[in-house]
Amino acid sequence: MKRVLVTGGAGFIGSQFVRGLRDADVTVLDKLTYAGNRANLEGVPHRFVHGDVCDAELLSRIVPGHDLVVNFAAESHVDRSIEGAAEFVRTNVLGTQTLLQACLDAGVPKVVQVSTDEVYGSIDIGSWDESAPVRPRSPYAASKAGGDMIAQAYAITHGLNVSITRCGNNYGPRQYPEKIIPLFITNLLRGRKVPLYGDGGNVRDWIHVEDHCAGIRLVADVGEPGEVYHIAGTAELTNKELTARLLEACGKGWDMVEYVADRKGHDRRYSLDDRKLRALGWRPRISFEQGLKETVRWYRDNPGWWAGT
Ligand code: NAD
Repeated sequence: MKRVLVTGGAGFIGSQFVRGLRDADVTVLDKLTYAGNRANLEGVPHRFVHGDVCDAELLSRIVPGHDLVVNFAAESHVDRSIEGAAEFVRTNVLGTQTLLQACLDAGVPKVVQVSTDEVYGSIDIGSWDESAPVRPRSPYAASKAGGDMIAQAYAITHGLNVSITRCGNNYGPRQYPEKIIPLFITNLLRGRKVPLYGDGGNVRDWIHVEDHCAGIRLVADVGEPGEVYHIAGTAELTNKELTARLLEACGKGWDMVEYVADRKGHDRRYSLDDRKLRALGWRPRISFEQGLKETVRWYRDNPGWWAGT
């Protein structure tokens, strides 16, 4: 049975990845920051290690013997990185390097570094392919780009078999209600207004978390060392269009929307060209309409999960 180590596996995407693994012996390493929640792994077979990806001594004990290591551990919220970037650089850059070194020392045969379209900056028209230069504009994006570049350096310099995935905006169950979709759903369910940044014209490409995880699984199986793979979304929407869908799904009107000052340095649009991964057989399976409906239902059915947030 394949032995898999998932760092950040108690978070939104990492826990979904663990849930979707079949015939694997899984260890989750997670620091359990505000975004990590052991309840996300309830009923999912795994061994849990409470710890930090920056802890080289801990990694030297738990990494050896794994066939695959997938790194989801990160500080992941742009607004928090604007308030304070130190933890982002620590976890997303130093943590990634510490983990890669442990994988190299232990001879781990395959590593996947999970990353984001935000490393490219902002694009008004067209889409980035994997050869586009990274031009991050927020401290979050810069820290992710730093982690990715360290990963590529470990592939080139040391021959570590690490591939990098870059994905668009995820949505689905168990996403901490600070990102727009769960924040707006839980606010509306609480009867509170939702804060829409600037003119609401920022464009994001949405993907269901299960489709993202399927892409990561494929890259874990067939990804080449040092290569980047895009996992694009299925629904390109302005935040205003997204808000309209969320209002409709929650049975509320525009009186529940409050326009607030724009995020500093707010990227206007992200867009990925995902032909490289599609050529390997990956396709998104979940339509935005269906996925959003199920996501709203999940938050409605699980108030205990988000009540304390
Ligand atoms: P999340 O914030 O929900 O989860 C992050 C997890 O990492 C949490 O469980 C947290 O406790 C853990 N963690 C944080 N610092 C740690 C540390 N130092 N050591 C060990 N664990 C630590 O984030 P997410 O949305 O699940 O994102 C997971 C990964 O996917 C991140 O690398 C993120 O950059 C990337 N990504 C996210 C999106 C998105 O839309 N959410 C899109 C593309 C890529």
